[in-house]
Amino acid sequence: MDYAETSTALLEDRWDEVHAADLSPEALLLYRSNLLGSDKRVTNYGGGNTSSKLAEIDPLTGETVAVLWVKGSGGDIGTMKLDGFSTLYSDRLVGLQALYKGPEHEDAMVGLYPHLTFNLNPRATSIDTPLHGLISHPHVDHVHPDAIIAIAASADSERLTREIFGGEIGWVPWRRPGFELGLWLKRFVDENPGAKGVVLEAHGLFTWGQTQRDCYGTTIRTINRAVAWLADQSRGHAAFGGEKVAALPVAERRAIAAALMPQIRGLIGLHGVDGKIATKIGHFDDSPVVLEFIGSHALSTLAPLGTSCPDHFLRTKIAPLVIDFVPGRETLYDILPRLEPAIAAYRAGYAAYYERCKRPDSPAMRDANAVVYLIPGVGMITFASDKATARIASEFYTNAINVMRGASSVSTYRGLPEQEAFDIEYWLLEEAKLSRMPRPKTLAGKVVLITGGAGGIGMATARRLADEGACVVICDIDRTVLDQSQTMLRLKYGADAAVGLWVDVTSEDAVIALYAEAAIAFGGVDICVSNAGIASAAPIEDTTLALWDRNMSILATGYFLVTREAFRMMKTQKSGGSIVVVASKNAMVASPGASAYCVAKASEVHLARCLALEGAAHGIRANVVNPDAVLRGSRIWEGEWGAQRAASNKTNRQDLERVYIERSMLKRGVYPEDIAEAIAFFAAEDRSGKSTGNIINVDAGHAPSFSR
Ligand code: NAD
Repeated sequence: MDYAETSTALLEDRWDEVHAADLSPEALLLYRSNLLGSDKRVTNYGGGNTSSKLAEIDPLTGETVAVLWVKGSGGDIGTMKLDGFSTLYSDRLVGLQALYKGPEHEDAMVGLYPHLTFNLNPRATSIDTPLHGLISHPHVDHVHPDAIIAIAASADSERLTREIFGGEIGWVPWRRPGFELGLWLKRFVDENPGAKGVVLEAHGLFTWGQTQRDCYGTTIRTINRAVAWLADQSRGHAAFGGEKVAALPVAERRAIAAALMPQIRGLIGLHGVDGKIATKIGHFDDSPVVLEFIGSHALSTLAPLGTSCPDHFLRTKIAPLVIDFVPGRETLYDILPRLEPAIAAYRAGYAAYYERCKRPDSPAMRDANAVVYLIPGVGMITFASDKATARIASEFYTNAINVMRGASSVSTYRGLPEQEAFDIEYWLLEEAKLSRMPRPKTLAGKVVLITGGAGGIGMATARRLADEGACVVICDIDRTVLDQSQTMLRLKYGADAAVGLWVDVTSEDAVIALYAEAAIAFGGVDICVSNAGIASAAPIEDTTLALWDRNMSILATGYFLVTREAFRMMKTQKSGGSIVVVASKNAMVASPGASAYCVAKASEVHLARCLALEGAAHGIRANVVNPDAVLRGSRIWEGEWGAQRAASNKTNRQDLERVYIERSMLKRGVYPEDIAEAIAFFAAEDRSGKSTGNIINVDAGHAPSFSR
């Protein structure tokens, strides 16, 4: 593919005059911002900012004053609401120039911005505020389009900018965002009254307008000119010097990624002084854009140069880790021994970069592991503290690939100089932002796999553990209910938090494939809740071999297969793990008329003990939760089992719950959420890290089931 083939699509002007006509100036600013941010070709997630200087009534004086509305710290212009803007007295911001002591003191200016707040708006101001506030134009857009950054990251970006835009769009050399860059932009605007915007070297685009509509239109037109020019210039040139190695077929790519992700995860977990390991969540991408880059001749020269736009490298680290692999000639077994040395070398390289660039007041070195892992012919794997961050890092590196493709097709691509990159990465203001982040939840960075996840206890457990920040894999044999359950979880916790995968736990192949899919979805599995089940009742002489085998295959063999694969994956990840076996009261005490079920359930408890014995050396814990009489939400009770239990208790199905409540010592009903609570206890290392081989009964008290 050449560059022109992949990147000629022009942006549409999506401004709707009819819709815009009824909007207040503030709502119009939000409309403009959301419109720009909704197209990732205009700006990356969380990247860029927009502003308007609007007339407002000052609550202190009743007079009309100019107020700068500018996207505040954090947030994303595509999805932000009005409360995402900070508001500042415009003239007071301009007045700060009198206090400015020069570039070495520019960070101190940030502490003054809160003093300029208009109308007690609590939204924190961003460091980009002076870039908007010091220029006089009423409406300003700052975005990070791949096509513009491709120009901005070219060795001769000033010349290219002039060639493409003439005098209409100017050029400003690289300078990290802050008060000084604001002054540079102001000088440019004062000296070039006819200009409509400016390309910031190695960074992005600023555009402005007298009206909101003008400003939006200029942004779209400017990007489109860059897109068209790049396509024109590079037509006929093979992108990235052409293909060096072909991508593997999709099934092979995924099989290799599934095997590598838990291995990498095991090598990059952060070991705390308390012996705990902070695990990361993974994301896999084998889109055509990625495959083209990682299979190209230019991979080995471009990847080490790192990314250019500050947003890109803050998310992806200064450079990716390329793992040597010759697809087609080598296999997974050639890659595996290379992982550990490659990861160690990356860490050493990062530590050396830190040592070379650190300043006397730099914060301590952060995690030295790579975020982005590129495997030729296979794809890109990213790891971060949570799924959204890993996915977004992958999207940002895809932006960086687009930038490199554009820049290298018309010029020489240049990453940001190392010291500049370091100064942004370890900027004290960036450190302050990180320290304001909320403490991670108990199960952040953990992946839980729940079999029978679409059932009553399974879904209650999924919700309970997702509430604690875990990524959830629910798996079930019932596709319809599984789809509904995945939708429910995603609606509540977001698309990144949960995935539903089909499995029949009685099939060895299906269970192995399930773990491979879980590894691709999140990088591995840390907590396994073996829960998929059925119930059956029949007197012993009426228990057919088929009924016996069905119970054994789902409840004994199924639990074995599911926990064995969990055990294997946990060993690979080298970060311990928790296996929770959802057995039954019937595992502790036999009930008449349910021999197949009781025996199969009893075997689960013993399986858990065996897992606890063999797992201890690897930090893998195994414990049992025994539910009893969880009628609500459970699909087991909807069928024959409910009717038979009612008959054997000489009652009807409606009164059965009351019978069980009466039978319990505490006279209380047991619900799926109660079982989920006990599972959550065993799941979390923080709470039950010193418990293995244990049993919790959740049955409102049933003396015969006391464990002895
Ligand atoms: P449920 O029927 O609501 O959920 C069980 C889920 O397992 C269902 O979604 C079902 O589709 C799935 N499943 C069945 N066979 C499967 C297979 N071969 N492969 C994959 N998935 C399969 O029932 P529940 O009450 O949530 O039960 C969960 C677990 O709790 C079961 O192991 C059950 O034996 C145990 N348990 C429940 C109770 C109770 O009173 N509800 C009491 C004791 C033990």
